[in-house]
Amino acid sequence: MLTIILAYQGFNRCLSSGHPCTPMGPLAHETASNNPNLCRFVDAPELLGRNRYANHWNRAALRKQVHGFIGRDINGEIAFAQVLPLYLPCWGVGGGRRGSYNYDRTKSHPDQRAHLQVELCRGSTKDATYYWQAISLMERVFAHWCRTYGWNPLEQVGYTKRLTGHREAARAGFGSNHADPDSLMACFGDSMDKFRLRVAARLEEPAEEVRYVYAHSMPTYYWRPKSHYNGVAVLQDCLTKLGYTVETDGYFGTETHEAVKAFREAHGIPTPVDRKGVQQAVSCDQATWAAINKALNDLP
Ligand SMILES: [Zn+2]
Repeated sequence: MLTIILAYQGFNRCLSSGHPCTPMGPLAHETASNNPNLCRFVDAPELLGRNRYANHWNRAALRKQVHGFIGRDINGEIAFAQVLPLYLPCWGVGGGRRGSYNYDRTKSHPDQRAHLQVELCRGSTKDATYYWQAISLMERVFAHWCRTYGWNPLEQVGYTKRLTGHREAARAGFGSNHADPDSLMACFGDSMDKFRLRVAARLEEPAEEVRYVYAHSMPTYYWRPKSHYNGVAVLQDCLTKLGYTVETDGYFGTETHEAVKAFREAHGIPTPVDRKGVQQAVSCDQATWAAINKALNDLP
């Protein structure tokens, strides 16, 4: 069973201001600094632990993000946290002389194809147990994505293989000049070629069942029928999963307002009133998001 912690980081601008792209392959990174704890990067304190310095990546000022991180959760277990919907591109690999594997708006890729990127949080380079457990979880995540999108990880696509890494993308002219994850892999006698073969081997096995655990960390949204928000589309997806009838269009209009109001009433979240006792507009605030995560995790 592959567990995916869905912890969308709605304050990061990759989520709040990204434009949908077509995924075109998985891409591996490693963080290159010795800190295997997911809370360093991902804001989901209940599952991953609290980041005392608040320097996680769920911040609007930050201009980088990937689709997910692999590292240790609050209990020290190795876990995968997905922080961005797969239909949004991330800002992980930078750019090179030919373009960027984050997404590509050049004539050769007019459909804005984007790579799905995962950071392996580096542990000690002497800790082989951690490395092999973490990299095998990355294999399982990439195998799951290859199945979902019908990808062959070994296929040559343009200048790289379908499944690639930051260093390979950089050398092909589609990323900034970094050596990850090959640099870390070399410490353990591993390589991108060996990694690709292991993902391909996993595709020969029966598909793993996937279980989602929800820990979204999102801003407050409220009545804004004329403005599109990616985060409102996330909210609408959640409400749909919870049985409410809303269209996922990213606009917080009447339908979404009614659904949020009904959800709040069903979960005992009081509607704020002003000094005269007049009910204020309901919003999807932090209490509502917490209840949404809980309700999604309680679904059978
Ligand atoms: Zn990288």
